[in-house]
Amino acid sequence: MDFNDTPQEAAFRGKVRDWLPKYVTPRRKTRPRARSEFDATEELKKSKSWQARKADAGYAFIQWPQEYGGRGSTIEAIIYAQEEAAFATPEDFFVNSSFIGPTIMNYASEEVKNRFLPKMLRGEEIWCQLFSEPSAGSDLAGVRTRAEKNGDQWVVNGQKVWTSFAQHADWAVLVTRHDPTVPKHKGLTYFLLDMTTPGVEVVPIKQISGASHFNEVFLTNVRVPDSFRLGEVGGGWGVAITTLMNERFSTGRDLRPDAEELLKLVQQLKIDGQPAIQKSAVRQQLVDLYVCSQGIRNIQFRTLTALSKGQPPGPEASILKLVNANKYQQISNLGMDLQEMAGIITDPAEVGDNVMFQNGYLQSPGLRIAGGTDEIMRNIIAERVLGLPQDVRVDKAVAFNELP
Ligand SMILES: Cc1cc2nc3c(=O)[nH]c(=O)nc-3n(C[C@H](O)[C@H](O)[C@H](O)COP(=O)(O)OP(=O)(O)OC[C@H]3O[C@@H](n4cnc5c(N)ncnc54)[C@H](O)[C@@H]3O)c2cc1C
Repeated sequence: MDFNDTPQEAAFRGKVRDWLPKYVTPRRKTRPRARSEFDATEELKKSKSWQARKADAGYAFIQWPQEYGGRGSTIEAIIYAQEEAAFATPEDFFVNSSFIGPTIMNYASEEVKNRFLPKMLRGEEIWCQLFSEPSAGSDLAGVRTRAEKNGDQWVVNGQKVWTSFAQHADWAVLVTRHDPTVPKHKGLTYFLLDMTTPGVEVVPIKQISGASHFNEVFLTNVRVPDSFRLGEVGGGWGVAITTLMNERFSTGRDLRPDAEELLKLVQQLKIDGQPAIQKSAVRQQLVDLYVCSQGIRNIQFRTLTALSKGQPPGPEASILKLVNANKYQQISNLGMDLQEMAGIITDPAEVGDNVMFQNGYLQSPGLRIAGGTDEIMRNIIAERVLGLPQDVRVDKAVAFNELP
């Protein structure tokens, strides 16, 4: 691995550095906002116009192939992300699109790709992921939402839950069970769903932070054209895994606060009248977390090197997801602890930059669950990275409708 920019990469970095300050303000000059200050409708408008601006300049979804509007370069994607991280950009409503896009590229017809990918790239359509259900999260292959064929349409009935951004989404990816008489992984079919279809009801879930990031989604006699099926009838599991692998890699992105923000915080704080940075217990934790951040960056580079050789994100994306979400929580919690009573001040006028520790404190537990929990990531690492024996799966060969 070579961590230095090639001349071509340095030229690209230079262009991005010239372009960004024309449209966004450096992060250090802006005050991070508390969750309660977000007006999702306003943020969505800003996000859409920022995404369109990036698309016009050739900086949207840079890792996508050129034929779909990207630059076909994962290295340029990471360079852009590194540079953009220094600026206060609008909320990212496109995180779903960034990993749903590759699934459409892999499985859809040219007609379907041309219908969806350009609008996704420009932020004209928002996507959500209708996978989890009240009794199927970690065990995604256990979904019960039924899809029954009726002519050239499917009729879908069931309930999804924890669907991020469903209340803003125009389209969704949907995993259903079309055949309950075969083992659970074999009876699944995957669709693209227009969220304005009659029978789709979205009910926001209020979170501890006051925001409603995710939703319940009820599907009653929802009609989906067969032309919006991705993959074969019964091939939904493979399509879902493609989406999940891309999602896990995207969860390995840089999250703030990171070790740099923690360092800034401990440089400002005092403990028992002494600068916090001089306390050996604080220094020890700071160094551990810094080392962890660097390890994550190296795994990101390793995965990107594989991606730039045309290989999809593999099970190592699970290592990235597991370690990154835990580090995010440890840094946020430590930041809150060190601030003592000041950590719980929520008045935006008083809290200053340290609001990012509060935001992280509230959001990080969710990140350890979304896209696959810590335990599921550990199972994948054990079985697919370390080659340890598989968990006992008694339901693997049993018809879904015969499971207790
Ligand atoms: C912030 C957030 C956003 C989300 N966004 C979406 C979204 O947009 N779309 C969507 O479809 N879903 C979304 N989810 C749902 C998420 O994918 C599920 O919550 C997750 O997969 C876990 O499923 P569950 O909640 O049903 O927990 P369960 O699967 O019931 O797990 C409960 C506990 O049992 C453990 N467990 C389960 N199976 C095993 C096993 N085999 N070995 C060891 N331990 C096990 C789990 O680790 C967990 O601790 C989101 C969740 C969060 C928190």
